[in-house]
Amino acid sequence: MKVQSDVNIGLVGHVDHGKTTLTKALSGIWTDTHSEETKRGISIRLGYADIEFRKCNKCGEPLCYTTAITCEHCGEETEFLRKVSFVDAPGHETLMATMLSGAAIMDGAVLVIAANEYCPQPQTKEHLMALDVIGVTDVIVVQNKIDIVSKERAIESYNEIQEFVKGTCAEGAPIIPVSAQQGANIDILIDAIDKKIKTPIRDPNKPSRMHVARSFDINKPGSHPNDIKGGVIGGTLIQGTLKEGQDIEIRPGIENKRGGKNAWISLKSKIIGLNAGGEDVDEVGPGGLIGVATKLDPSLTKADSLSGSVAGEIGTLPDVLHSFEMETHLLDRVVGTKEERDVAPIIIKEPLMINCGTTTTIGVVTKVKGNVQVTLKLPVCADKGDRVALSRRVGARWRLIGYGIIQ
Ligand code: GDP
Ligand code: MG
Repeated sequence: MKVQSDVNIGLVGHVDHGKTTLTKALSGIWTDTHSEETKRGISIRLGYADIEFRKCNKCGEPLCYTTAITCEHCGEETEFLRKVSFVDAPGHETLMATMLSGAAIMDGAVLVIAANEYCPQPQTKEHLMALDVIGVTDVIVVQNKIDIVSKERAIESYNEIQEFVKGTCAEGAPIIPVSAQQGANIDILIDAIDKKIKTPIRDPNKPSRMHVARSFDINKPGSHPNDIKGGVIGGTLIQGTLKEGQDIEIRPGIENKRGGKNAWISLKSKIIGLNAGGEDVDEVGPGGLIGVATKLDPSLTKADSLSGSVAGEIGTLPDVLHSFEMETHLLDRVVGTKEERDVAPIIIKEPLMINCGTTTTIGVVTKVKGNVQVTLKLPVCADKGDRVALSRRVGARWRLIGYGIIQ
């Protein structure tokens, strides 16, 4: 039985267009699990679900594609095809940072567009732009809520989508009409995802590198000291493998308050447990979201305090950067707002929001001639050549303005 998924697929799109409902239709898992999210009805943190794609060998296409173990059409046991992880990104516009952090760990994406609203809505545009900026190319468009529109509106919406994706990474992508709520055409969607979103080719000989998206203290308040379990980090391996018993390093780690500015200490610990796809395993490779139990003091990992860091074999991680120079590539227009404006050049002293891997930090611009140089509020662990997303404050919000390549 294969437990680890081999690909991470982001679900992106405007708020209320049906991303969470679609994840549920595919998996039976509700990704809005945090209480705050349930209250506000939006996905704040990246939710995720591992889903098995299966096929019935008796039924024809597309009826044969399912996520169920027994075929709903003929009752036969279905055959395992592939396991994929869905990352349910938040659609609310203030949460663009989380979306950009999530894009760093997406191998492909499903862009959800509701057929009952004019396309593009501001965040539909902003998310597609983000996929372009981050460099996600395997994209599928879901035309959702097909159950509540007339045939004429469905065709009109399809044409709007075609027009909108022109010149982007979603040009030529399959557009699948779906009702996430009614479970209609989910089989066709599974087939399309399986064919279009390929597992990236990975080099197993590279040193392990994990992007940390979450971190937890799994102990109940008031646990007896003898029962305290070590800190857990969650995220995805982009290269290499991790094994139980292995020593790992986490960077940037924690700030040494007495060490003065820019003094950070990387954390070192031993892996005492690994989880992939909800099951305990001895070894993990790239693909899917993994949980790593360590011997770290759980106070160091509580409440996502290590999200944005990088973990891997000791001595192999990139340097911790407190400032860097980058070659910048700016968009023509600021998207995500009702009225769009031109992107003005980057100016000295302005603060930029920088998303690098799963890290979000602020960089204050210290040089604009030639390459742009920034001094970071929170350091990042990154290599030369890594791509970072750049956002600027426009009005009350951060807006994506382009990307930079670290020099
Ligand atoms: P998200 O913000 O993109 O995650 O959107 P949700 O999945 O939370 O869905 C927003 C609302 O749209 C909810 O009330 C859903 O029940 C509804 N919805 C989602 N998919 C469909 C659909 O296919 N048809 C209809 N009629 N409603 C849907
Ligand atoms: Mg949602």
